[in-house]
Amino acid sequence: MIEIEETQTKTWFIDLDGTVLEHRTNKEIDDMIYNQPGAKKEKFLPNALHFFRQLPKRDIIILTTARLKRHITHTLKFLDDNYFPYDEYIFGLGSGQRILLNDIKPAEVTPNKRDMKTAFAVNLDRDKFNFNLIDTIVD
Ligand SMILES: [Mg+2]
Repeated sequence: MIEIEETQTKTWFIDLDGTVLEHRTNKEIDDMIYNQPGAKKEKFLPNALHFFRQLPKRDIIILTTARLKRHITHTLKFLDDNYFPYDEYIFGLGSGQRILLNDIKPAEVTPNKRDMKTAFAVNLDRDKFNFNLIDTIVD
């Protein structure tokens, strides 16, 4: 098990579609916005909303999504209407892999005097918010 420091602010880079929300394509989001017949609705995945609400208030949540920038207003309204916590958002990302780089904090600058890894990633199955997988690194 990888251990993450609990004493420092964490920054969460969170995908939306298939991770927090039921996966929607940009076409499906357009259909929602323009009230097309049979359009799907936005829907949180079970446990996702609760998981992010219970994070420490000091943590920073940055939404990172391939949703088009024209979908910002629609998407944030849904999140805000449901009191989903976030601090920043980046729309219009690529739909390929996301890669996070960060340097290891040397022991002498960490509160518990040992080297601290600062980059973590979790691959979740689409539309299955498995918080147990996240718990394996955020212990
Ligand atoms: Mg996704």
